[in-house]
Amino acid sequence: MLTVNAIAATSATDPLVRTTIERRDVGPRDVLIEIRYAGICHSDIHTVRGEWGEVAYPLTVGHEIVGQVTEVGSEVTKFSAGDRVGVGCMVNSCRECDNCRAGQEQYCTNGNVGTYASVDRDGTITQGGYSTHVVVDQDFVLRVPESIPYQAAAPLLCAGITTYSPLAHWNAGPGKKVAVVGMGGLGHMAVKIAVAMGAEVTVLSQTLSKKDDGLRFGAEHYYATSDPATFEALANTFDLIVNTVSAPVDLAAYLRLLRLDGTLVSVGAPPEPLPVPVFALFGARRSFAGSSIGGIAETQQMLDFCAERGIAPEVEMISADQVNEAYERVLKSDVRYRFVIDVDTLR
Ligand code: NAP
Ligand code: ZN
Ligand code: ZN
Repeated sequence: MLTVNAIAATSATDPLVRTTIERRDVGPRDVLIEIRYAGICHSDIHTVRGEWGEVAYPLTVGHEIVGQVTEVGSEVTKFSAGDRVGVGCMVNSCRECDNCRAGQEQYCTNGNVGTYASVDRDGTITQGGYSTHVVVDQDFVLRVPESIPYQAAAPLLCAGITTYSPLAHWNAGPGKKVAVVGMGGLGHMAVKIAVAMGAEVTVLSQTLSKKDDGLRFGAEHYYATSDPATFEALANTFDLIVNTVSAPVDLAAYLRLLRLDGTLVSVGAPPEPLPVPVFALFGARRSFAGSSIGGIAETQQMLDFCAERGIAPEVEMISADQVNEAYERVLKSDVRYRFVIDVDTLR
């Protein structure tokens, strides 16, 4: 076992603290990664605060991980020491169910093993990326292209793939009008990726305070959802709406912005159920859908796509001691657009 420095939550209400955690010995198919950067996803906050259900404390979260390989097991063929790699939201799955065989490990019918707060194959609870090292099966490790700036790459492992996957699935591209609701960590990546795919992108944010940024990321239009006129002006407009909001939204209001056969996909994961207003669906044969991260092959595809297109997250680098403050700022939508922990400050 390897004892490594980490940041952990000890309860749903206390601040996160510095601690140490154990990493398993490097098995034959495992890769030991020295973590350099770890992004802060809103899911980390939902999880540590117990909003999605009970978790076992102490818990180290973090599932936007990049770093370098420092050791590989005897049967590892995909990676070697020195490689720049990433780990996202899952670290294992059954590999045998229909969905795993189809490369959709995130939808493993036996339940994928999450990077944190899941039961690992050895019965322990997985611990995430706010730590200096992690040991992961090679099949759940991604290659991070050198052309993506090291400091900015981590958020691609969750925010990037979680928006790339539904945009690709629902064919965001030339001739398609795509709206992104909420421009935080996921939302700003949804804008950049949808623009790169060729779609005409509109941002729907609570206010116009980030309009210049949205246009700089390539959006053509930017509206405030606090203004009721927005919902009149944009009725029956979009082929696809990607909802990234971490709190409940008025689904009826957004569904009415879809044109015939349009889809509203929620990737935002508020703890409360969202009541589906069926009459807003009937109105133009609209669909309401959800989407969870992406498969491993698709995650690699997304990383390569971002490298080719020169797309990277906008990040604000913080030290290990600023995590609690960063959480408060995320909760106030005061994030431009992803906090990333410089893990060297944990060593
Ligand atoms: P984030 O950085 O906090 O961004 C969420 C954005 O939603 C905010 O920046 C804000 O955008 C808007 N917003 C926040 N509270 C709002 C409210 N009360 N009403 C209206 N708009 C509000 O969070 P994130 O890391 O992008 O994550 C977003 C959500 O996706 C979280 O629920 C997270 O758990 C979930 N998630 C899901 C998956 C998946 O696989 N499906 C993966 C990762 C994350 P504006 O300031 O522009 O209004
Ligand atoms: Zn996440
Ligand atoms: Zn499976």
